[in-house]
Parts: sequence; C-alpha cells; structure tokens
Amino acid sequence: MVPSTTTPTRDALVVGAGFAGLYAVHALRNTQHLDVIAVDAAGDVGGTWYWNRYPGARVDIESVHYSYSFDEDLQQEWRWSERFCAQPEILDYLGHVADRFDLRRSIRFNTRITSLTWDDDESLWTATTHTGETHRARHVISGAGTLSVPKKPEFTGISDFAGEVYMTGNWPHHEVGFEGKRVGIIGVGSSGIQAVSEIAKTAGHLTVLQRTPNYATPIGNAPTDPEQEAAEKADYSAIRDASRNHFLGVPYTDAQPSALAVGPDERREVFDDRWNRGGFRLFIDSFGDILFDKDANDTIAEYIRGRIRERVSDPATAELLAPQGYPYGTKRPPLETDYYEAFNRPNVDLVDVKSNPVDAVVPQGVRLADGTEHAFDVLVLATGFDACTGPLLAMNITGRDGLRLADHWTDGPQTYLGLMAAGFPNLFMITGPQSPSVLYNMPLAIEDHVDFTTAAIRYLHERGEDVIEPTSEAEREWVAHTNEVARATLLPDSPTSWYMGSNVPGKPRRPLVYLGGAPAYRATCDEVVAAGYEGFRLSPAGDRALAQA
Ligand code: NAP
Repeated sequence: MVPSTTTPTRDALVVGAGFAGLYAVHALRNTQHLDVIAVDAAGDVGGTWYWNRYPGARVDIESVHYSYSFDEDLQQEWRWSERFCAQPEILDYLGHVADRFDLRRSIRFNTRITSLTWDDDESLWTATTHTGETHRARHVISGAGTLSVPKKPEFTGISDFAGEVYMTGNWPHHEVGFEGKRVGIIGVGSSGIQAVSEIAKTAGHLTVLQRTPNYATPIGNAPTDPEQEAAEKADYSAIRDASRNHFLGVPYTDAQPSALAVGPDERREVFDDRWNRGGFRLFIDSFGDILFDKDANDTIAEYIRGRIRERVSDPATAELLAPQGYPYGTKRPPLETDYYEAFNRPNVDLVDVKSNPVDAVVPQGVRLADGTEHAFDVLVLATGFDACTGPLLAMNITGRDGLRLADHWTDGPQTYLGLMAAGFPNLFMITGPQSPSVLYNMPLAIEDHVDFTTAAIRYLHERGEDVIEPTSEAEREWVAHTNEVARATLLPDSPTSWYMGSNVPGKPRRPLVYLGGAPAYRATCDEVVAAGYEGFRLSPAGDRALAQA
C-alpha cells in the first residue's frame, strides 16, 4: 500500500501496550522527547495480561520482583495484595502505570499490524493496520511479546463443536460459568495447570486430556506480609540489583553447586526446603547443575515424582501424572496450587491422550484415536503458543531489498543479541528470540532491552546518523553462540517444548531463548555498547551500502 502523503513520519512506532510497549512509550516519549505512536490489537493496555484472563491466571514470579523497577516512587507506592498476584491485579497495575505516566494518549487500541515494510530510500518503516491505516516511523520497537500468538487448534472438527470453546491465551471478557457443565480441557502446561485447579472447583465434571505430564511444583502463594513488604521496600534498589545479577532475574541466593556433591539426606533437605518456600526456588535455587547434568536432574525429577505420588490418592492416576522420560526444567516448569489434589475430587478425571491421541473434535465432544468419545458442554484449549518468533512473524515484516523476515528465519530465528536482525534496520525486538527473555524476569528483561534501544537511538542522534543494524557476521556469531550455549544444557532433550519451538508442528527446532543467563547477557550488551556498538553498522538515512554489500 502506498502511504498517504498526509501520513506523519514519527520517530518511533511501538508495537504493543503490555509491559514492553508501555515502558518503551515512556522511555522514548517522556524521557527522550521523541514523537512516538504505539498500537495494540487489544482494547486496552495489558499485553499478555489483557488476553490471558482464564480462571486461575496468576504470575509465577513474586509480584514484588515481577514489576517495573524504573521509577522509585512507583515501586514504593504500589502495593500488591498477594505474594504472587492474580491476573486482574496485574492488569490494574499496568492501567495505573499507563495513567501515571500519561501513556494512553500515544496508544491506538484495537489496531492490529498486518504488514511492516522498510523503505530503503527513505530509511523508514511503514506499518499497515487491519483497518488500512498506515503509520511511518524511523524506528520500530516491537513489544509484541513472546507468548502472545496462541497456537492454532490442531484438531479437525473444532468448528463443528456444539458447545462453547475457549482458549486460555485468548479468554473472553465475559464471565464463563462451569457450574453443572461437562468441561474438557486439553493441555497441562502452566496455563492448563492453573485453569484445572480453578475450574475443578465449580465444574459439574472436568476431564483433563493430558499428553505430556508436567513437573508442577507449589507456588506457595499467600497474602502480602506487611513486615516483609516494608523490609523489601526499605532497600528496593538492592533487591533489583540482586535480581539483575541472578540467572533468572530474581534475588535468590541459596543455590548450591551440585546435587551430586551431597548425600541423599542433605539433598532431600534442600529439596524439601525449596519445595516449602515455593515459587521457582526448587528450579533455580536448589542446585546449580540440574539443568546441565542428567544425573543431577534425575535426583530432582525423582523427588517431584515422589511428591506427586504422595498427593494423588489413586495410584494409577498418580503414575499418569508423574512425568517420565524427559528432564525436569527442559519444559518450562509450571507452578501450582492444589493442582494434584484436584484429581482426588469425584468430579475430575484424567485421560491420557499420549497413548490414545485426540482424533477429532466432534459436535458433542472429543473423539480419541481408539474411537472412545468424551462428551462436553465446554472445551478449553490450553494448548500453548507459537512462542518468541510467532508474534514477530505475524506482523508480515519485510526489510532491506524486499527481504522477508519469514524467509530470513526459515531455519529458525537469526538475530544479534536477540534484539535486532541483519537486513531489518531500526527494528528493535524487545525480549526477542535468542535473548534471555522468558528465562529472565520479564519486566526486568524488558527494561534492559528498552534501555538498550533508547540509548542506541540517542547514540545515533548524537553522531548525526539515522540507521542502526547488525552485520550479518555479528548475527551469525550470535546464533552460533546461542546454539552452543543451549547444547551445554539438557534443553534440547525435551520431546516438545516451546523453548525449542518443538511444540508447533513444522516449526524449526531451535533454541528460542538465550541460555547463558541474564547477567552474562547484560555484560555482553554492555561490552558491545562500550566498544561503540560493536557488531552494528550505523549509517545516515538512504545509505544503501550495506544492502549492496
Ligand atoms: P504450554 O506450556 O506449551 O502447554 C501446552 C499444553 O498443551 C501441553 O500440555 C501440550 O502437550 C498440550 N498440547 C498442545 N497441543 C496438543 C495436542 N495437539 N494434543 C494434546 N495436547 C496438546 O503452553 P501454556 O500452558 O500456555 O504455557 C506457555 C508459557 O506461558 C508457559 O511455559 C509460561 O512461560 C507462560 N505462562 C506463565 C504463566 C504464569 O504463571 N506466569 C501462566 C501461564 C503461562 P505436550 O507437552 O505434549 O506438547
């Protein structure tokens, strides 16, 4: 589409109004005084927390840590009611941030980008939206998210289902009642597990269709303890520093080096302690080698299986729920409240759809491969996302010389620092593929990436340049490094994991997350900047030298 001559050219177009988009608007508009416009397909701010409003949706990093750190007054004044807050409260928080920093006036809601095209001559991006509107901008900052494109339902006949169908990743805004209804849910990842615990309380009957059992462990939620809150807020900046210096972006300090360096009793003591303290402590604050050494991993996997057997009354159901054959942590570990106890209720059944897969959705329910049918009034799909690359590819991005991002990424994502891609100038992918993103604490990962972006744009301006993009060589090296780091972990051993893209049929199986840890990643970014944006090429607008190189 040819942009109308009246289309204003902005300094920056921000995609999304979740944690990333909101902070990007604030950083670029309020602190750098740039002309910024943001768009979001949703009707309001919130990003992932706008769409994922299924029963039980809740953060699984403590809210005191899973929140913005950029404004001291904000973090002092905002009060979380629980240790791990539920979705509505996070949405309130993001609404509060939007109002407090006057962000809404820069955001066009209900606006989905359908194409994003780079103009080599003018060095500008043109975005077209689903309404046919165009936006032109020098820079595009994508806060489109990592887990924002739900995986398309893979079940034939889904459109013929006579009952109600809901996706956890795109839950309706109206109240969904389960009372007296026969509910089926497919998927037992973090979303499915949270939903099962809640839906089980009211459904007439709930059938959980499970393909791969998960290693879910207790979240340990509780109302905020005012004394603890005061202690945390007394030195919030120290907590944030400790978070930023931790692999996963939380201020945990109790990890011991190796599960194999201690005897079984001591190991059990550590596991019990982290289990009781909840959150991701078992995963990342017990022993440092569980994600790297299969024998170490076996000890924690067996511990969790034992805990599941203790909690589930029926031994056959317990065995089905106990994960086997893949290491703990190679699929993103879900956190739960009373998930396993749900299977002790008379109104909840577990059905194994690994040995007997879903064949089709039929008007009255779900038919399995052996011909058995399960009748449902409501079907919930908690089947996950086209993670990390999906949200970027959905924007139909075309860079220099007509290069399509979809073609550039045919064999998996290629980025430099998980932030930019060669041939796609001035396109910043906040928490993009091959950055620590979801293996870091997202609000902090987002702040780091937006701060990098803001500084890079300022650096360009100071030098009288307009365009920044990585060299192909820097990109190749980063991709190789990302793959090499992943190979040193147990992650590639997972049968299906969105970390590897292997949850989506046909998607290249590649590490989508940088596994070197947030501190090492930040140090690399700092070195790149200190060396004058090493690996990037800076140029004036309209310079086609790189395109022709
Ligand atoms: P997910 O972890 O990818 O889980 C999807 C589930 O659907 C898996 O159990 C999968 O089985 C199953 N599934 C997919 N296709 C299927 C099919 N054709 N037949 C049968 N089963 C099928 O997705 P998610 O639960 O939405 O979670 C995604 C990520 O979002 C999480 O890992 C987390 O990072 C984030 N999240 C966070 C929270 C939080 O607490 N903060 C809550 C929800 C989500 P297989 O394993 O066999 O493929």
